[in-house]
Amino acid sequence: MDKMYAYDLILKKRRGFEMTTGEINFLVDGYTRGDIPDYQMAAWLMAVFFQGLTLRETVDLTMAMAYSGTRLDLSTVPGVKVDKHSTGGVGDKTTLVLAPLLAACGVPVAKMSGRGLGHTGGTIDKLASIPGFKADLDIETFRRQVQEIGLAVTGAGPELAPADKKIYALRDATATVDSIPLIASSVMAKKIAGGADALVLDVKVGNGAFVKEVDAALSLARMMVNIGNSTGLKTVALITDMNQPLGSTVGNAVEVEEAINTLRGGGPEDLVNLCLALGSEMMLLAGRAKDRPGARALLEDALASGAALSKFAAWVRAQGGDETVARDPSRLPRATRQVTVTAHAGGYVCKIAAEKIGRAAMLLGAGRQVKDAPVDPAAGIVLKKKVGEAVRKNEPLAVLQTNRDYFADAENLVREAFALGPTPPEPRPLIHYLVNAEGAFAYEEVEG
Ligand code: URA
Repeated sequence: MDKMYAYDLILKKRRGFEMTTGEINFLVDGYTRGDIPDYQMAAWLMAVFFQGLTLRETVDLTMAMAYSGTRLDLSTVPGVKVDKHSTGGVGDKTTLVLAPLLAACGVPVAKMSGRGLGHTGGTIDKLASIPGFKADLDIETFRRQVQEIGLAVTGAGPELAPADKKIYALRDATATVDSIPLIASSVMAKKIAGGADALVLDVKVGNGAFVKEVDAALSLARMMVNIGNSTGLKTVALITDMNQPLGSTVGNAVEVEEAINTLRGGGPEDLVNLCLALGSEMMLLAGRAKDRPGARALLEDALASGAALSKFAAWVRAQGGDETVARDPSRLPRATRQVTVTAHAGGYVCKIAAEKIGRAAMLLGAGRQVKDAPVDPAAGIVLKKKVGEAVRKNEPLAVLQTNRDYFADAENLVREAFALGPTPPEPRPLIHYLVNAEGAFAYEEVEG
């Protein structure tokens, strides 16, 4: 075989040609080892940004990244292991509810999660707000915990798809993040390396998501579902709304508290409905229910009986945390300052710009602007109104919780995020589409 040169492969992609599997492996392996420099990989990524990748190339890129480290072996854990992944939103605490809920229904959950960056929060930061909770388990402890109590969630270690870690950091610095084949391969590489048998994707669309338009979300979902199903990971996606934060809280401890309330049978309508919809797909993939109404009934039973809440307490205990938060969420960290943002005029809430709320939460200390910065577990925002609700002049729109002295920028962002109008807006669906190996379907048609 002729010797390969990164230069030729950049030129080939720049001219719009399809690359071979060997060429993609050469680039990914060479870059991960450090033989190919950043500037050549960055040039190739920019060529991909403009020319795209075929499905075959995207699958090759995914597999090269997935196997750049060690793939987690979960074969000793009995049952169909189902993973769940969200493409990132504001106030998205579904994993905190779904992991114990599914485990309570007999579906083993072995999940590697991320930390938050920028305006979107990360599950690991949320869990770390529970006093004592250990969010970094070694692989053996992780596997044993799934066997013993049916669930474990840990931060992804350096051995999980290291090629993706390096390429993602480069994309972040070279304006090549928002390419559908690059996002799809990055997400799916980590999911394949995570070792699950099946996967439910929550592809967020709207002003608070990576993807702002439904058509782009559909392309991303189709591509990820195709990659999963062609590599042996049974994958289904829901395309869900992120035009306002999910639920009423954004931050860390505040989101854990809302998740606990949801597990107790309370919880805001949008969060409960999304958890039941994603959870139903997980139950179907795990073979625990025959159809969606059956899956939903089992999930609702586990919430109503307290089984899901008990599983949450067992999970927190297993990971070293204070399990009494399940009974008494006031034991979670609280901020010293509460600042209420009120409406200047009356009307209806027409929009809550999720990205602005996420940025405001970050400014209050709940998120990080740069990698590895510490987060304040107590900082966050509690929304008092959601889209469609009526508001009177001077009524609270949101309460900011912070330990910082300066919060004027966050206060302004929250005020700007709320758009009020004289009439309520048209209701929007929470779940737009279901995408599976057979195609894409309007959700209200498959809901059953
Ligand atoms: N999340 C990922 O893991 N990768 C991307 O490329 C974008 C979002």
